Amino acid sequence: AKKADKNNYKVFNNKMYAKIKNFVKVEKDLRIALDDEKAFEIFYQPKIKAQDGFVSGCEALVRWKHPKKGIIYPDEFIDIAEESALIIPIGNKIIEKTIKDLSEFNSKGYGTIKVAINLSAKQFTDNSLIGTIQKAIEKYDVHPSQLEFEITESISMQNISKTLEVLHQLKQTGVSIAIDDFGTGYSSLSYLKQFPINTLKIDKSFVLDMTIDNDDKSIVNTIINMAHTLNFTTVAEGVETLEHADILTDMNCDELQGYYYSKPIAKDEFINFLKTYNTN
Ligand code: C2E
Ligand code: CA
Ligand code: CA
Ligand code: CA
Repeated sequence: AKKADKNNYKVFNNKMYAKIKNFVKVEKDLRIALDDEKAFEIFYQPKIKAQDGFVSGCEALVRWKHPKKGIIYPDEFIDIAEESALIIPIGNKIIEKTIKDLSEFNSKGYGTIKVAINLSAKQFTDNSLIGTIQKAIEKYDVHPSQLEFEITESISMQNISKTLEVLHQLKQTGVSIAIDDFGTGYSSLSYLKQFPINTLKIDKSFVLDMTIDNDDKSIVNTIINMAHTLNFTTVAEGVETLEHADILTDMNCDELQGYYYSKPIAKDEFINFLKTYNTN
């Protein structure tokens, strides 16, 4: 038993070491990337209005174009950026670029859409966040109602009075607020009622399991009905099949997002997507 313990300890140590080494490397590369205007590219995933099939908006999802490793997905660097506080300058770039792209979407004349931007917990505690958002809105001359910020339940639960304060400030700028990954955190709907939010995004894990597990289907149905009772709109993520889309439409879910319609795509591809869906 002693020998096994020793080996486990060694394996653990090696894993820890690899993890720390990776953290340091990614952090260093992220700092370099911050000076490169083209390092971060924003992809857009369409959201479809369930009632009429038009594109109502999209979600901005960042990709990192690493000079050696190619495209790196957010799951590999957002946590590291968050722990090293680099998420603040990176997040500010994402906000600025996305709002700039939104003004381009507007100029194409394919309808008024709404763009959602993810905010991490650290950004939420940054006192200059609201100013950064307002400046970009003015600079690119978009309407604040065209912007939505997605936050997770975990942010909202960390420091409730601070969260409420920032949420109200955000709300006052005229943007809307969505709770992301809804259902995976601990907050209850009655609790969320106190927050000035507009939208609940149902986590994809429930949506994906709806067709194999009736409990998940009931959960999704319950979230949608309760959300509507509280005057929130609902978005389902992880819509991968026509069956998912049909079930959610029957349940009166407002917007649908997922691979069934489109993966996240580059700006120009998204403009084409808009053209295809929103013109006759
Ligand atoms: P999220 O906000 O929950 O975003 C949804 C993720 O699900 C995206 O992964 C998207 O590509 C993926 N997805 C979309 N449709 C489907 C589908 O039909 N099926 C399945 N299985 N997956 C689908 P992505 O782009 O890799 O982003 C991962 C996470 O990274 C995001 O999760 C978000 O938490 C974070 N993230 C992405 N961009 C940003 C950003 O600009 N800022 C911050 N703070 N976080 C970001
Ligand atoms: Ca999101
Ligand atoms: Ca999500
Ligand atoms: Ca997620």
